[in-house]
Amino acid sequence: MEIDPRRSRERMVREQIMARGLSSPAVLAAMRKVPRHQFVEQALKPQAYEDHPLPIGQGQTISQPYVVAWMTELLDVKPGMKVLEIGTGSGYQTAVLAEMGATVFSVERVPELHQLARTRLSSMGYGNVQLKLDDGTLGWPEKSPFDRILVTAGGPKVPEPYIDQLADPGQMVIPVGVERRSQMLMVIRKQEGKIGRKTVGQVMFVDLVGRHAW
Ligand code: SAH
Repeated sequence: MEIDPRRSRERMVREQIMARGLSSPAVLAAMRKVPRHQFVEQALKPQAYEDHPLPIGQGQTISQPYVVAWMTELLDVKPGMKVLEIGTGSGYQTAVLAEMGATVFSVERVPELHQLARTRLSSMGYGNVQLKLDDGTLGWPEKSPFDRILVTAGGPKVPEPYIDQLADPGQMVIPVGVERRSQMLMVIRKQEGKIGRKTVGQVMFVDLVGRHAW
């Protein structure tokens, strides 16, 4: 089956993202631009723009387009910001953040996924991205502080290193849940030394596995 990526993206943005109430012009522009079909394996390309997550190997998934857009809108990314992303996975979310003009530092713990994302993102010309293979629950202390932190895997609590590595002012979007595969999406803000937390909805992410998680 052949897909027309540009038309598929336009439909995805209208029917899955705008129809559910997201309206940030910067997020919509990035979702229109990043070639999602290039972040899934060949056999799944025809499904790349459908309204659900897809397997990317190693038991992991690329998030549903709406969830990527929603979390990105909540993150409130501005050009030039330093963003820490945990869970590079396919590299799709990384590309969306890079497309918005952020400098992205992304950590992945599975070597195969890290390597594939590295090859993909550099062949697509995303220069404002640095990738690291490590336990992302430690954050990336040498590159901190971060204006924004985005976590795309779910653990039972907010890893303490993220609070330390968040800039002031700074903002984090993270799924947290004591049951696996079911988390509350939280927006955490640091301002003038104070931490504010808000729960914004329910999500279903793969496990965040590491020292400060499962
Ligand atoms: N943002 C990704 C979705 C990734 S799924 C995308 O757009 O494709 C979650 C990813 O988090 C998986 O690839 C998983 O291996 C990774 N992960 C889980 N625990 C991690 C940890 N402690 N550090 C870094 N990555 C982790």
